[in-house]
Amino acid sequence: MAQAKYLTGDAAAINAFIDQFDVFLIDCDGVLWTGDHLFEGIVETLELLRSRGKKTVFVTNNSTKSRPDYQKKFTALGIPSDVEEIFGSAYSAAIYLSRILKLPAGKNKVFVIGEAGIESELRTENVPFIGGTDPNFRRDMTPEDWQGIADGSHLDPEVGCVLAGLDFHINYLKLSHAHQYLRRGAVFLATNVDATFPMNHSFFPGAGSISIPLTNATGTKPVALGKPSQAMMDAIEGKFRLDRGRTCMIGDRLDTDIKFGIEGKLGGTLAVLTGVNKKTDWEAKDAIAVPAFYVDKLSDLHGAAQ
Ligand code: PLP
Ligand code: CA
Repeated sequence: MAQAKYLTGDAAAINAFIDQFDVFLIDCDGVLWTGDHLFEGIVETLELLRSRGKKTVFVTNNSTKSRPDYQKKFTALGIPSDVEEIFGSAYSAAIYLSRILKLPAGKNKVFVIGEAGIESELRTENVPFIGGTDPNFRRDMTPEDWQGIADGSHLDPEVGCVLAGLDFHINYLKLSHAHQYLRRGAVFLATNVDATFPMNHSFFPGAGSISIPLTNATGTKPVALGKPSQAMMDAIEGKFRLDRGRTCMIGDRLDTDIKFGIEGKLGGTLAVLTGVNKKTDWEAKDAIAVPAFYVDKLSDLHGAAQ
């Protein structure tokens, strides 16, 4: 079993670690902040990496926010950032639709289960959609809905894709529409399929809890566009023209971040202990993934590497 190298407090090892890479893909929640609380020393650590000529790309599975929304969060927390270095799962799904999938004319609308972040990214990429935050889909089902969904009269014939992300207003009406589109051959995408996400020192059902009922009903799994999906890695590679061997993924979760870096054959992965997973998780016999390196917290890179 591979071993993770502990870097905290070891200045020589930290400098060698930083020198090994040109690009750092950095997960957000659990690495830079938790909720709205910025971890100490993050601004200085990012400054250190950038001052050494490293590119920083912020990779998040949170689909409820668009990249400009995320940049506002960076600014509010005092982290200098460029919207172009933010890469979220909603954006990943939008560019997959506009640049890779390219649905045929007449079948190019997306039925969205999700929040405003997805809608905003789809608009930016000129991908037409229905559903999402539309109040017509945020209500109980009527007898007319049951009939109209069954016979297709309530369906939009131009929908060729269902995109499922975290939706705080998920209901049976949306699931029934999505299910019917999938039965009729729509492509099934998900922004991400995280089991949970951390909030208020606990966990809540993640975006996977939105697509799994549809998988159960149709027997098909979505193509997921967030970590650890390699469709996201390919999109990041295309956009930033990165050399995978000189790129390191930094994250707090083994099943998304560390797996993402390992399966993407990046030069390295760095786990931090400020989020979801702990050392015992990758030391377990059936560990999902083992990081190449770990630190107690991201700012340990700054503390030692002066
Ligand atoms: N999804 C949602 C809705 C979230 O709020 C979060 C974290 O806040 C995540 C996913 C995980 O985000 P990240 O990939 O930045 O850890
Ligand atoms: Ca995280």
